[in-house]
Amino acid sequence: MKDVDYIIVGCGLASIAFCEELRANQKSFVVFDDGSQKSSVVAAGLYNPVILKRFSEVWKAKAQLELAIPLYQKIEEELKIKVDYKLRILRRFTSVAEQNKWFNASDKPGLEPFLSTHLVTNDNRVIDAPFGFGEVLHAGRIDTETLILNYRSFLKNKGWLEESTFVHNNLKMDSDNLAYKNFKTQKVVFAEGFGVKTNPYFDHIPLTGTKGEILTIKAPDLKINYAIKSSVFVIPIGNDLYTIGSTYNNEDKSNTPTRSAKEELITKLKSFITCDFDIVKHVAGVRPTVKDRRPIVGGHPDYKNLYVLNGLGTRGVMIAPYVSHHLYQHIENNVALDSEISVNRF
Ligand SMILES: Cc1cc2nc3c(=O)[nH]c(=O)nc-3n(C[C@H](O)[C@H](O)[C@H](O)COP(=O)(O)OP(=O)(O)OC[C@H]3O[C@@H](n4cnc5c(N)ncnc54)[C@H](O)[C@@H]3O)c2cc1C
Repeated sequence: MKDVDYIIVGCGLASIAFCEELRANQKSFVVFDDGSQKSSVVAAGLYNPVILKRFSEVWKAKAQLELAIPLYQKIEEELKIKVDYKLRILRRFTSVAEQNKWFNASDKPGLEPFLSTHLVTNDNRVIDAPFGFGEVLHAGRIDTETLILNYRSFLKNKGWLEESTFVHNNLKMDSDNLAYKNFKTQKVVFAEGFGVKTNPYFDHIPLTGTKGEILTIKAPDLKINYAIKSSVFVIPIGNDLYTIGSTYNNEDKSNTPTRSAKEELITKLKSFITCDFDIVKHVAGVRPTVKDRRPIVGGHPDYKNLYVLNGLGTRGVMIAPYVSHHLYQHIENNVALDSEISVNRF
């Protein structure tokens, strides 16, 4: 039997941020992942402090960014990879009324640091944007696929990754210790994304699950180095490639790309981009969304050493480091969890 302080189930954005908390505090751990959920790997990876539908601030945007950016930088340095790309995000306006709404919003205290008050005019002949754009400040993109693949290799090389399904019924519990396979531990943190639906300890948490699909296109004539938010996002990822996304589907819970989502994305893209493009990739995943749009964090009401780290919704890149930090402080230092994010609210 190998003794570890923690077993973590899942190796997506939530788990990686929690692993980093454990490493920073010299705790030992092992991660189980079977690749059954794809949300983190397929994500567009944007970190964007503004809700661009309503021109309002993302919940705790500033606090989230303050933890997220240094964390991804630290991983970049240690793993010698590049994942954080600063990016201008331009919100395409559809009317003068929308322009006015943007400039009114930019005066609000929470939004002021994030909304530029300069109207950006369109100078690209293959983009239709007669009302111009509003620019979001302090935004960027994490290349989540590179992050996750490299983080998994890093864990594997250390002997901290088990690439297999965690079978909940095989977890042995006595009064003080937990054991799974050849590991003995004090605590288990479930960071399974939508996979928590098969977890008998936490299947009561009300995860809706919202499937999202994304295309990668090659568009040599588009030539933009900023992201556009219109009916869909267009995000440059280099070499004339762009991520186009995403769709939102609350019915289908599979990771299978569909023709209808592809058509929806193409139709929306063509409503404001006129150049030719080829589709080079099409992927799908299920976001771990919650009705009240808040993460779900904390301990099981009956089994005191089992914890959940979930509900990252549509914004896992920014939220993961924030909730992981709070969960760690709760477990190790008994710091109470904010009732807004606590699993006890259900
Ligand atoms: C199309 C799309 C676009 C998105 N774009 C963005 C974006 O631009 N910005 C942003 O911030 N967020 C975005 N998101 C949301 C983001 O991806 C999620 O918030 C985040 O990835 C959730 O991370 P997670 O670690 O909680 O879950 P997941 O990524 O689902 O990870 C859970 C992991 O647990 C593993 N697992 C589950 N059960 C078991 C088990 N029993 N045994 C072993 N392993 C198990 C799974 O294989 C998986 O690796 C997007 C999502 C989608 C689908």
